Amino acid sequence: MTAPRNVVPAGTTVGTTLPELTSCPECGATAEITRRDVLESTDGPIEHVGVRCVRKHVFLMPTFLLDRLVQSQP
Ligand SMILES: [Zn+2]
Repeated sequence: MTAPRNVVPAGTTVGTTLPELTSCPECGATAEITRRDVLESTDGPIEHVGVRCVRKHVFLMPTFLLDRLVQSQP
């Protein structure tokens, strides 16, 4: 059985073409959002973002966690 995929194909422009910046959850340095994917969960699809900071830390996490991190910055 094949599950339907909601992942946006590479190269597709969605919303903005500008790189989005945030803060690294690990070290607080400037980090770039490198990708956005919708992953299925038991509660339904959840949008995740890939984050890579200037110190090469790489994360994949739900966007709601990212929003909370951004709001927690001074
Ligand atoms: Zn970092």
